[in-house]
Amino acid sequence: MSEQKYYVVIGMEIHAELKTKSKMWCSCLNDPFNSEPNQNVCPICLAEPGALPVANIEAIKNVIKVGLSTNSEIANFTEFDRKNYFYPDIPKGYQISQYKYPIVSKGELASVPLTRIHLEEDTAKSDHAKGEYTLIDFNRAGVPLMELVTEPVIYNSKEEAGKTSSNFGKALQRLLRTLDVSDADMEKGQMRLEANISVTTDPAKFGTKCEVKNLNSFNSVEKAIIYEVDRHIELIEKGEKVIQETRGWDENKLETFSQRKKENAHDYRYFPDPDLPKMYLHKIVDLDKIKEELPMLPEIKKAALEKIELQPKQIEQLLDDNNLASYYFEASKGMDISNQKLLANYLLTDAVGVISKSDNTLKLPSATTFAKIINMISEGTLSSRGAKDLITDILSEDTDPETRAKELNLIQNQDPTMMKKIVEKVISENQDQWSSYKNGEIKLEMFFVGKCMKEAAGNGNPKIFIDIIKSL
Ligand code: ADP
Ligand code: MG
Ligand code: ZN
Repeated sequence: MSEQKYYVVIGMEIHAELKTKSKMWCSCLNDPFNSEPNQNVCPICLAEPGALPVANIEAIKNVIKVGLSTNSEIANFTEFDRKNYFYPDIPKGYQISQYKYPIVSKGELASVPLTRIHLEEDTAKSDHAKGEYTLIDFNRAGVPLMELVTEPVIYNSKEEAGKTSSNFGKALQRLLRTLDVSDADMEKGQMRLEANISVTTDPAKFGTKCEVKNLNSFNSVEKAIIYEVDRHIELIEKGEKVIQETRGWDENKLETFSQRKKENAHDYRYFPDPDLPKMYLHKIVDLDKIKEELPMLPEIKKAALEKIELQPKQIEQLLDDNNLASYYFEASKGMDISNQKLLANYLLTDAVGVISKSDNTLKLPSATTFAKIINMISEGTLSSRGAKDLITDILSEDTDPETRAKELNLIQNQDPTMMKKIVEKVISENQDQWSSYKNGEIKLEMFFVGKCMKEAAGNGNPKIFIDIIKSL
């Protein structure tokens, strides 16, 4: 490759199926995955003549939640438009979408600026694999679909472009799941990612972009961007032109392939849908209330977890599991930093570690119970060995940890008089070592702690033993 410096420009378009009870324009069940084909259908989502859509307010609220969580602007005025095209999976001959007045605009997520987030409807699902015909399942027709579009962002390298874009996708998936507005499972097509990619030598002038579809994982986002950038650079260096087109990603060959030349907006003949009312959102929904009810956002969780210096892998684990994170934050309420760290470690290693190895019959005790165990550890009433045993025990039966620890004989001996007696006994039995220790052979301290622990049958707090040994 030449000495020429290439900049990479990426803009993303991400669709996510919203998790509402009913579809976008009718009261059919929004459950395309678990239902038999064509069960959740009615004259509206089958587009029978004369059927009229009614907008699902929950879907609108869901988009607003995403907007409020990304510091975006929520439109005062919004409307729905018809995007006209013919395809068997689009029964009306148009998709109801939004063109000029999206519900959400501007904002930012994971350092990527957002252009807009609008609301539209999903298409039916075509199945071409059954034979010489195509089957269509309309369960998905009219499922609320959110589309988020980012601004084009300039990157210095294909690696940076790939990494930032896949991180953006992850951050959005986490946000959607945290807000509980979408399950955002990419394998199920609940979240679909498209990357617009171009290459330029002059950052003030963008190159011709290609849009890559069928990106079914964050890993493919990264790989497709890198592949596509190399392809563009190769074309440019051969003196050829990049053609603006839609390309697919072949997961097996790890390359992109041409699908179709790109339509322009005017091909869709957008116009406001006369069947739906125009909306003044501030009058329809209570924005302040939605804002107040937002859960703890992933960025905030991340900052809190970084403060206690967990390993990046542990942070990811907590951020990827909303229930676990809620549990952690509930249990950690009022704890100091060192106990929070202790909690995270015992929760992820001993509790979740045991559960994920078991057949899932184990479940976590209440957050308060777990917090109690952590306090017992930090106070020294439980040894780390005892803590492991107690946690395993309490996972199968949520009982009071102190009572249970006593029953299982896991309480560490902390009676100073008793412990001092143990130390004195150990010293009298090891006079030679004791002399050496007193003469400065400090490393013998552990020898004495070990003997004391053995004498106490593992049931003693080593920290206290050390203190006694030192004082003597
Ligand atoms: P279109 O009308 O072709 O869909 P848009 O202007 O709506 O194009 O942009 C679609 C997406 O493409 C947006 O995410 C935008 O940031 C991105 N984009 C626009 N121009 C470029 C470019 N030159 N290179 C990479 N991405 C781009
Ligand atoms: Mg577009
Ligand atoms: Zn319907």
